[in-house]
Amino acid sequence: MDIQAAILREPGGQFAIEAATLDAPQAGEVLVKVLAAGVCHTDIGVQHIMPMPVVLGHEGSGVVEAVGSGVTKVAPGDRVVMTFGSCGRCPSCAEGAPSHCHDMRTLQFSGGRADGSPTMHQQGEKLNAAFFQQSSFATHALATERNVVKVTHDDVPLELLGPLGCGVQTGAGAVLNTIKARAGRSIAIMGAGSVGLSGVMAAHLIGCTTIVAVDINKDRLALAKDLGATHVLDAGEGDVAARIREITKGGAHYVLETAGAVQSFTDAIACLTMRGVCGIVTVPNHGGAFDFSARELLTGGRTVVGVLEGSSVPDVFIPQLIDFYAQGRFPMDRLATYYPFGQINQAVADSISGKTIKPILKMP
Ligand SMILES: [Zn+2]
Ligand SMILES: [Zn+2]
Repeated sequence: MDIQAAILREPGGQFAIEAATLDAPQAGEVLVKVLAAGVCHTDIGVQHIMPMPVVLGHEGSGVVEAVGSGVTKVAPGDRVVMTFGSCGRCPSCAEGAPSHCHDMRTLQFSGGRADGSPTMHQQGEKLNAAFFQQSSFATHALATERNVVKVTHDDVPLELLGPLGCGVQTGAGAVLNTIKARAGRSIAIMGAGSVGLSGVMAAHLIGCTTIVAVDINKDRLALAKDLGATHVLDAGEGDVAARIREITKGGAHYVLETAGAVQSFTDAIACLTMRGVCGIVTVPNHGGAFDFSARELLTGGRTVVGVLEGSSVPDVFIPQLIDFYAQGRFPMDRLATYYPFGQINQAVADSISGKTIKPILKMP
């Protein structure tokens, strides 16, 4: 079918919205008319590893238009959020950990289906798409039955919900699923972007009594306080780990590192209390190493754990977050700024500069 898609031809380049053709859904696939799609830092960070030209976008929401043979989870007319792809058969998927699917690289980043075939073309030439099994920077997206989640609430704005498919479930899930934060305990959250602030909301929701948000952006720290942070620290003023140890009277039970700076990783581990747990959702400086004290991990019984997609089982976790939102306990709308699809380059620029926390593109 004929669609409009935002095509990127070189890493760091401008997106161009152009005509393209999308395959009809094959067995197990779901065609979604995209209503809106969030911009996530991964759309920016992966550009240097993706084959070009590519259609990105992996926080789409919309309405099912058609389904391929064998699809029973959703039907045309259903409202859905699209999330990351997973195979359903590997050891991780079999154990209920699809965010660490063994086929993750192929399903998210190969530019095609699991079998390598392309889903999108332009004038007969292959476009790299099927990004996170959706490529939702387009008017239509081809997903799989496994990575669509049905939205059963009629009274929630569907255009807001796409980021539940990645950034928001990553921050909230890191706190609720990976770290399994408990009421009455302390947490420090490094970085008050969309992932960090989703973590703040989740920590507040679950009843953490000390929630320290750390950033260099004063507006974001103010928002973190609104969303439940009990303390905020300007990282630009230094001594972050020492100040967190003081606030938490000896160290935080949990730390969530979302900032991606070497100093932030160092501080994250240095401010943990005995047997504390640090979840990392990013890497310092696009993959660089950082020093930490193995002795501090050993003698303190501390844990550092990598978090992808908030260890989410999307069909279970995304509906829970929608319930929390509908009850007013997870105000993710506070993170969002809407842009028309035609302003995708502005939305990406505002995400990079930090002007906007969670840009969401609305399709025409
Ligand atoms: Zn798998
Ligand atoms: Zn993402």
